[in-house]
Amino acid sequence: MGENRYVDTRGAVAEAIPFTKAVVDGLAPGGGLCVPETSPSLTVDEICSLAELPYAQRAARIYRAFDVDLTDDQLARITSEAYGNNFDTPDICPITSLDADIHMLELWHGPTSAFKDMALQCLPRFFSVSAAELRNRRQLDDTHMILVATSGDTGKAALEGFCDVDGVSIGVMYPDGGVSDIQFKQMATQRGGNVTVWGVRGNFDDCQTGAKNVFNDDAFASNLHERFHVALSSANSINWGRLMPQVVYYVSAYAQLVASGSIERESEIDVCVPTGNFGNILAAYYAKRMGTPIRRLLCASNENRVLTDFINTGTYDIAERTFVKTPSPSMDILVSSNLERQLFELTGRNAQAIGGWMADLREKRGFRVDRDTFAKMRELYAADSVDNEECLRTIREVFETQHYLMDPHTAVAYKVAENLREDGVPVLVASTAHWAKFGNNVYRALHGLSLADELPADVAALTGCALNRLVAEEAGMPTSRIPAGLSELDDLPIRFTEVIDGNAGAIRSAVCAFLDEQAR
Ligand SMILES: *Cc1c(COP(=O)(O)O)cnc(C)c1O
Repeated sequence: MGENRYVDTRGAVAEAIPFTKAVVDGLAPGGGLCVPETSPSLTVDEICSLAELPYAQRAARIYRAFDVDLTDDQLARITSEAYGNNFDTPDICPITSLDADIHMLELWHGPTSAFKDMALQCLPRFFSVSAAELRNRRQLDDTHMILVATSGDTGKAALEGFCDVDGVSIGVMYPDGGVSDIQFKQMATQRGGNVTVWGVRGNFDDCQTGAKNVFNDDAFASNLHERFHVALSSANSINWGRLMPQVVYYVSAYAQLVASGSIERESEIDVCVPTGNFGNILAAYYAKRMGTPIRRLLCASNENRVLTDFINTGTYDIAERTFVKTPSPSMDILVSSNLERQLFELTGRNAQAIGGWMADLREKRGFRVDRDTFAKMRELYAADSVDNEECLRTIREVFETQHYLMDPHTAVAYKVAENLREDGVPVLVASTAHWAKFGNNVYRALHGLSLADELPADVAALTGCALNRLVAEEAGMPTSRIPAGLSELDDLPIRFTEVIDGNAGAIRSAVCAFLDEQAR
């Protein structure tokens, strides 16, 4: 057990590290990302037989295949806690087929109604168990505080994931006034004794820069160590412990499609993913590499189409780009960090090339891959983007023709799947959020409004919960179909209302005040 070790994409780590350390460290020294030294492989029969197991056990099988340095008992406990009745269906991520060839993999049945739960219900448990292992081996003597800067979705999924997990506490910063009513209430009402939430005066960039400055402050780190025996850590999607749980649902979905008779055993599928930080689609790549019969990966972008352009031209260029506001904010990303792992794999693990491209990205705001890497990428990927109006139109069209209501992120992927699909090849579309997380834009879509249009005054005055009820009623759906975690928000007490400045000093004070309180 635990033979598989982790190397880093920039070749900075002399000796490969075990899974537990990769999880606790997050980022490799030198700024690179951890990838497993060897990729597991499963036969199609082994993959299809997963359908007989509950989802939690499928996850444990895949983690075992990745040969992590945790025991079977630890894995069984972690996965049964992560994928149990915190989800609203025992299937965890069911598939809804919209026609013979388009299959929606619904990744939003978890506690916060967005796909990030699939990873963030598991990562905190990996983290807690891994840190305890390292403390047992005397390789670590601190507990951890997770610090997260969020534009909305990640913060809530991280709070819910780390809530009451042993040996870890969590503080989340969001831009004050910059998140929706639903997003604010999801965070401000968070339960748990080890959590806190701060609004920050400024925008998301201010939050993120503030967090980075605090992370990079060595004096503060030793201060926290001496005063509280606490080290800071992050929970973002560059952590391998967040990526590996995402591989599971692609392998599992293939087994589900065969078991339900939707596809023939051995026949290939395409997978279409609405992409931001490239984590979710990269997980599909690792699923393919393990032996899942996936033919091509379809990368779907919104108007921030840097990835689509990269896949179509081989040049990653953010010098001339401005950040565009879209109805799918969780894909509004210019620097897509997990792409680094994909390039590492496509170049045959050429850490030197990766280091050079990443330096170009920092210094020249762009890089161009060599012909060979570009050709390999074109074999694996196809990409397309969807503009804001087309996104909203797609929500309305699919609702009118199929009576299936999608959130804007999912709609981007659905439209790209339609654009790029080939006859006879089934497409699995990653559906990444429940529509009620983005009720205001779903309302716009169903009423034929555009993103820039103001909502009618009486609608704009509604709380997020009331707006969702209105959308459900107008769509002829029972309001009981809105997930409990979203429909109850108006009734829960607001616990966190503190607003702080975005500078490093203010964040440091807030962290210390929270840790003082935790120590009491
Ligand atoms: C985070 C997120 C995405 C993008 O996923 P990446 O792994 O960053 O590519 C897409 N849709 C929703 C709803 C998300 O929350």
